[in-house]
Amino acid sequence: MTISNIEKIKCPQEHIFEASLLSAISVAGNPELKEALIAGEINLVSCPVCGEMFFAECFILYHDTENELIAFVYPLSFQEQATQCKAKMKKEFELALANFEARRKINYEPILLFGIEDLVLLLRSEQNIEDEEAILKYIAPKLSLKTVKISPYLSRKLGIPKLLPVPKGLKEMDIISLTESLQVLVKYNPNLLYYTELLEKILKHRINILDIKQ
Ligand SMILES: [Zn+2]
Repeated sequence: MTISNIEKIKCPQEHIFEASLLSAISVAGNPELKEALIAGEINLVSCPVCGEMFFAECFILYHDTENELIAFVYPLSFQEQATQCKAKMKKEFELALANFEARRKINYEPILLFGIEDLVLLLRSEQNIEDEEAILKYIAPKLSLKTVKISPYLSRKLGIPKLLPVPKGLKEMDIISLTESLQVLVKYNPNLLYYTELLEKILKHRINILDIKQ
């Protein structure tokens, strides 16, 4: 559910005006809304007196069911109270889950962010990863590879793509075949930065197969 409210806003020059701000954003079945957010168009206001454009601060609950992302986005000014915000988020999330019971169970944790710009940055970096995933999907057959998908929540937690290359015909992913497939992939296309980074993480033992197969 997406909710907007009329809020009183103060511009950096202290002019006060009203604007409609989104306080809950659900992008399931609404890709245009996600695109607008990534483009930095949501809750961007312009002061009717001095014309300054800025992001208006308000609490936002962001939910993307498909990508297993729930973000509690507090105004930037709340950053100093991060511990309280985290406790509040946990409590509210548990309450929401209790109401959800009949529906599909949410088995991932919400994340805490400060300022809408942080949410925009997160979504932009995930968009870049998705672009690389699309390239992998396209070139995999040429390289005798196939793709294995891990949960979006886990991939976000590990900071790696959610679509991984493995040899065609492989039944269960193991570290050697994943490493070799990544080597084939980045040799073919050295511009795939997130896959190059994943390969480095594996080679430097900063990530292992058990993390990925959780
Ligand atoms: Zn102003």
